[in-house]
Amino acid sequence: MAGDDIPLLSKSRFTSGLQCLRKLHLSCFQPELGTPPDAAQQSVFDAGTAVGEMARDLRPGGVLIDEAYYLHDEAVERTRRLLTDKSVPAIYEAAFTEDGVRVRADILARTSDGSWELIEVKSTMSAKKQHIPDVAVQLMVIEKAGLTIDRVSLAHLSRDYTYPGGEYEADQLLTIDDMTDDARAYVETIAGELAVMRDALAGDEPPDIAIGPHCRKPYKCEFFAHCRAREPYWSIEELPGLSAKKRNQLRDAGTLSILEIPDDSQLNAAQERARQSVITGRPQREGSLESELNKIETPAHFIDFETLGPALPVYPGTRPYEAVPFQWSDHVLHQNGNVTHSEFLADGSDDPRSDFVDSLVSQLEGAATIVVYSGYEETCLRGLQDELPDRAAALEKLLNGRWVDLLQIVRGHYYHRDFRGSFSLKSVLPALAPGVAYEDLEIRGGMVASNAYLESIRPETSARRRKKLRQDLLAYCARDTKAMLLIIDAMRGGRARPSDLTSNLYRALRALWPFGASKT
Ligand code: SF4
Repeated sequence: MAGDDIPLLSKSRFTSGLQCLRKLHLSCFQPELGTPPDAAQQSVFDAGTAVGEMARDLRPGGVLIDEAYYLHDEAVERTRRLLTDKSVPAIYEAAFTEDGVRVRADILARTSDGSWELIEVKSTMSAKKQHIPDVAVQLMVIEKAGLTIDRVSLAHLSRDYTYPGGEYEADQLLTIDDMTDDARAYVETIAGELAVMRDALAGDEPPDIAIGPHCRKPYKCEFFAHCRAREPYWSIEELPGLSAKKRNQLRDAGTLSILEIPDDSQLNAAQERARQSVITGRPQREGSLESELNKIETPAHFIDFETLGPALPVYPGTRPYEAVPFQWSDHVLHQNGNVTHSEFLADGSDDPRSDFVDSLVSQLEGAATIVVYSGYEETCLRGLQDELPDRAAALEKLLNGRWVDLLQIVRGHYYHRDFRGSFSLKSVLPALAPGVAYEDLEIRGGMVASNAYLESIRPETSARRRKKLRQDLLAYCARDTKAMLLIIDAMRGGRARPSDLTSNLYRALRALWPFGASKT
């Protein structure tokens, strides 16, 4: 490719190139191969946009360059005019192009001596290592455009902020870290990095880079599905807990498929279970699985929470990203083998935490075992002890009960090759109970549930829409707790069928569940 044909870089392309040169090439020439953001990623982007807009109040009175990103040249021209207008104290989304690199700066604030402060805004709770090249490339481009930058800052959400209610105050919500030294030091490396990136872009094909941990750090790569399809069907990347050292060993030996791994490869127990499951096509159980499951005494409560944790707190007294539970589901396996279901879903615009805790404490009274899938629920309740001191004692009693984490049991004792390397409920349930996943549900993930709840409590949401959202939320959370029963049943070789999910599940479980230990 001729030099003139190499596309302009941007701040995001530069950071993509730092993560992976293949990602850079694909994003420039074949962006359609990327997977569009899911609800969780879109929420992160939306939070970033909202925080970015709010941060403009840190340097008020400025002018927004609101030309769209594809009108970059027009944005640069307007920025240039505003720079010379000394009555403009700040420019938001200021645009520059120098040396083939385009940037838009979140905030460029004029200082008293005529130089500028560059402020990058992030919706994170701290400045992170990956933010340094982000601000450094802006610093380099803006100074090449002739401006003097005397301070480079990163504004992010403050750990000390507690929402008092009402309008957000940017100077309270956000904290500003000085990144000047880090950014200036990094600028020294940028020319070399740009040369490497342009070299990669000069090739007709994207660099041949294998998938690995870099596909998720520091950002989840949108081309993962595309790149994963280049790997063998049973890729070694699906080995649970694969370390960088073991990955390199296998790849260096040309072993890309689990089916090719030699017997003497010294995999750990979970990886060996995965290998055997792939080779034999049969699930692999540890002998101790049954004794682990027998720790579940009846009455056993299989619970799951839904929470929201917005960047911009919704309820007074909460902090950015603080988890606020609004829903629980509980399938109860009773001593006589019956299974019943109870649930709670907060209503109205008030802080749901007190009602959530009171209803849960009452529901779990007398539980011999509380079964969860991950430690999230316990962590959430410990957080509530601090937030609701008048309920701390009741929560302590609950937390001192017998908790069993089914995720740890599955992870440590069982593997089905259709887990595809993941022990998440969303991977394990369809593998163990084919036909029973989440496809029939409107809500299929925690972030979608959180967004649905927020929509349901907005005053402008119609009664009809609100009713539908609440039905969808109840169905989703109930599926998560029902899933745990089906997973245990399947791991025991049980025969609950997809159709049992409704009418016959309880009868099937009653017939098959051999819980010996029961609390009397
Ligand atoms: S999925 Fe991984 S290997 Fe593929 S482009 Fe993205 S970061 Fe690179």
